[in-house]
Amino acid sequence: SFKIASIWGIPIELHLTFILLMSAVAILSYPSFYLFALILFLFIFVVLHELAHTFIARHYKIRVRKIVLYPIGGVSEIEEIPETPSIEWRLAIAGPLASLLIGAVLFGLSLIVTISAPRTPISASLGTAGSLMLDLATLNLLLGGFNLIPAFPMDGGRVFRAILAERMKFTDATKYATYIGRLFGIAMVVFGIIFPSYFLLIVVGLFVYIGA
Ligand code: ZN
Repeated sequence: SFKIASIWGIPIELHLTFILLMSAVAILSYPSFYLFALILFLFIFVVLHELAHTFIARHYKIRVRKIVLYPIGGVSEIEEIPETPSIEWRLAIAGPLASLLIGAVLFGLSLIVTISAPRTPISASLGTAGSLMLDLATLNLLLGGFNLIPAFPMDGGRVFRAILAERMKFTDATKYATYIGRLFGIAMVVFGIIFPSYFLLIVVGLFVYIGA
């Protein structure tokens, strides 16, 4: 992966597969750059999702080694995973909450832009901007909602483990959370095979299964 920026001293890196994906999208969507712009903006919002995790980690003095962007999302490499449930669920939920908030704001902005576009001389460009914002709003809401699925090691799964760990030993909570995570991983793969338009779920499901 290649370092593209650094925020709060934490390197943000692009994985090689991500660069290949962006190049492919740019070539395939030419001469319309709508899809390219959509994915580019989406990944800026994915970085914001990861930075929300980082922000909470910094608050609790937990070191974040780096943030890496893959085609299926961002990963914050956190040095030590907190075994304190009250910290873990806050750390895990920050990302999805940021995505949901961004989604809501973009939805509001797209409404304003779309409603006011016809009364301006640049209505066509504003119309495109409005639908781009609406698509990005939808994707951010999906990103936030999807990450809340209690499939460890996804964000929702970490929140789930923290809830369990309040009631039992941390190792037992991890055991149950990873068990549920693996079931979700299998379910995602099966769903992706049955419904090929959701083929990305096969990749995500495999990541969740192996990660768990
Ligand atoms: Zn997250």
